[in-house]
Order: sequence, then structure tokens, then C-alpha cells
Amino acid sequence: MLITAALRKRALAPYLTRNEPITRKAAMSADVHTKMLILGSGPAGLSAAIYGARAGLAPIVVQGVQPGGQLTTTTDVENYPGFREVIQGPWLMEEMQAQAEHVGARMLWDTIVDVDVSTRPFRLTGDGGTVYVAETLVIATGAQAKWLGLESEQRLRGQGVSACATCDGFFYRGKKVAVIGGGNTAVEEALYLTNHSPDVTLIHRRDSLRAEKILQERLFAHPNIKVLWNTVVDEFVAGEGTAGLVALQLRDRESGETHRLDVDGAFTAIGHSPATELFRGKLDLDDDGYLLVEPGTARTAIPGVFACGDVMDKIYRQAITAAGTGCMAALDAERFLAAVAHPAREAAAAGHEEKIGAW
Ligand SMILES: Cc1cc2nc3c(=O)[nH]c(=O)nc-3n(C[C@H](O)[C@H](O)[C@H](O)COP(=O)(O)OP(=O)(O)OC[C@H]3O[C@@H](n4cnc5c(N)ncnc54)[C@H](O)[C@@H]3O)c2cc1C
Repeated sequence: MLITAALRKRALAPYLTRNEPITRKAAMSADVHTKMLILGSGPAGLSAAIYGARAGLAPIVVQGVQPGGQLTTTTDVENYPGFREVIQGPWLMEEMQAQAEHVGARMLWDTIVDVDVSTRPFRLTGDGGTVYVAETLVIATGAQAKWLGLESEQRLRGQGVSACATCDGFFYRGKKVAVIGGGNTAVEEALYLTNHSPDVTLIHRRDSLRAEKILQERLFAHPNIKVLWNTVVDEFVAGEGTAGLVALQLRDRESGETHRLDVDGAFTAIGHSPATELFRGKLDLDDDGYLLVEPGTARTAIPGVFACGDVMDKIYRQAITAAGTGCMAALDAERFLAAVAHPAREAAAAGHEEKIGAW
């Protein structure tokens, strides 16, 4: 579930004031040196910070324009382990940051605009001109959902409109939902939603799906899913007062005819954009722009550069998986630094045979 910008600002007010802003004046004074620089302060970056700090690496977290990451834009979180009751996304991220700071990580309110990973230590530049000189780099810059771009879609985000069935599908138990899109994500979201909803409509603007054949077969065979072809959403329709989404105003692209589909929830599933523009041409990306890592690790092809969370994971995209890979990135970085400091350990580190004293 999502919250409005105003609610988010209020929820984050105590959180934001604790961070250290990088001013232009400070930027002129000195470079910032660190053993571990973490880009991003979502679950991946903050988990890496907790593990990095507890390994004695005194990490610096550059928080970016969205301190706390995507979860700060949501209200109810029911699937993060450890909490019996529903928790709030901004609260969870505030706790994660407090924990990271408590064990020694330092938060800086800056955004990286340039990256040089051609030699180590790596040099990164913040938008105020601060240069960060880092022995290891952990990239946790996340990915953002793509939206149709309608004003009504943005207005009703968190009030019936979502981009994550795994996150929000549970809130639509027994209700009518729609999924918009035609690729793998859309078909997977529609299939997932049948776990909760008896009535799922997939809305696609073309007359065939882009999704893999096996997914399409499962979709077409499912009795609770119907597909509307050649159809686009003109408007997400709100109910009276605070009712949130109650319907979609649809248009047939061929005939031009419009009709209304009553729904309780709508899931825009037209893909995600990983925040990797900075790394294009410098690190290996897959066809969709996600950072590539060695399977089973957080290691990129450049020794000393690690990636974690949604920026390298286009399959799961959950807070818990982001946190898990954040932990992996910090442990990989600690192991890397130990191997560099003690070359004799390098072989063992490569073979993953040594126990890491990180907890
Ligand atoms: C509305 C919504 C609801 C959700 N609900 C749930 C849920 O209930 N349960 C669940 O498990 N998951 C949920 N998710 C998914 C979850 O939020 C993500 O999987 C998770 O946040 C990914 O974590 P991350 O750390 O990889 O990236 P993000 O959380 O996206 O964080 C990215 C960070 O990188 C920073 N950054 C980006 N570029 C730069 C830069 N150039 N320099 C410095 N920093 C930069 C940003 O400021 C941000 O801090 C939800 C997502 C959304 C959008």
C-alpha cells in the first residue's frame, strides 16, 4: 500500500533530520575516504551497512534522493519477517537506519552523479562536488516501477493502485482486480493474484502477449482470469470521498469504444527501471539494464565492486531479498578487503572456505 507525499514527509521528518547533508562548502574542503561506500539507503544498502559496520569497515552510506528507499512510499508491510503485527514501511526503514547508525555506519544525504571504477580506490562524485574515495563499493540503488503516466494513476497509488502484486495482492482477498500489461511481469502478477482474488482481468493494449509461452498457457487455462485485448486504460476512477479506486475507464483501441470495468484493485505491470544509468559502459548490465553479478554472490566483474537489492534482482524485488543480498555484498566486501590485505588468504577467499567473523 502506498501513502501520499505529505504523509511520507511527515513519517520521515525525524528520520531525515538525523542525516548529514553534504553542502557545497563541505564539498570544497576535502574528499571523503572510506573502506566501504554504499550507494543507496533502502533495505539492501542499510543491511550492507549493518554488516559492514559490524565487520569494522565503518561504511558510509550515500542515501540518494529517496532516503530509506521504496518502502518509504508505502504504508502496510505484512511480509517482512520478525513482526507479528502489520508494520509501516517508513517506520521499518527508520529502524533499519537507526540500527545501521547504532553499529557505526554513517549516513550522508547526497546523490552520486559520476562514477570512476577503472582503478581502485574508486572515485565517485556527489551532486555538490564531493569526491568519495572508496576501497570497496556496494551498489544498492534499486529499481523503480514504470507507470502508465496517468494523473489518476498517481493520485490513487496506495488507494487501490499498485505496481506490486506480491506486496499488495493480499489486501484484495476475495475482491475484483485488474492487471495492466502484457509481458512476463504482467502474466506472473495476474497468476499470483488468483491466490487471493476470484476475478482477475488482464488488460493488454495489443492482440497478443509478449510473455513466455508457458506463462501464457497457464494464464489462458486459469478459470479466474479473463483477458481484454487491444484495450487501454484512460482513467483510474475514484469512488466518493475516500473510497479510493472503484473502476477503470477503458477504451478499445480498434473500435474506439469506451466502457467501465468495476474493480477494487489495479496493478500496473509494465516493467521496472533499474537505477543503473551511472554505471552504463562501466559495469556489466543485462539487456534490461540490471547489474550483473557472479551467481550466488554480490560480486560484479570489477574486483571490489558489489551489487545488491533490486538493482541486480529482477525476479524477486522484495525488501527481504534486498536485505539478504545487502548482507551478501557486505560479507563479500569484507572478504575482498581481507584478501587484499593478506594476499595469502586470497585463494581461500575465492573458494569461500574461510569463516568470516562478521557476526
Ligand atoms: C509501493 C511499494 C510497496 C512495496 N511493498 C513491499 C512489501 O510490502 N514488502 C516487500 O518485501 N517489498 C515491498 N516493496 C518492494 C521493496 O520496497 C523493494 O524490493 C526494496 O525496497 C528494494 O530495496 P533496495 O534497497 O534494493 O532499493 P530501494 O528501496 O529502491 O532503494 C534504492 C536507494 O538507492 C538510492 N539511490 C538511487 N540512486 C542513487 C544515487 N545515484 N546515489 C545515491 N543513492 C542513490 C535511493 O535514494 C534509495 O535510497 C514495495 C515497493 C513499493 C514501491
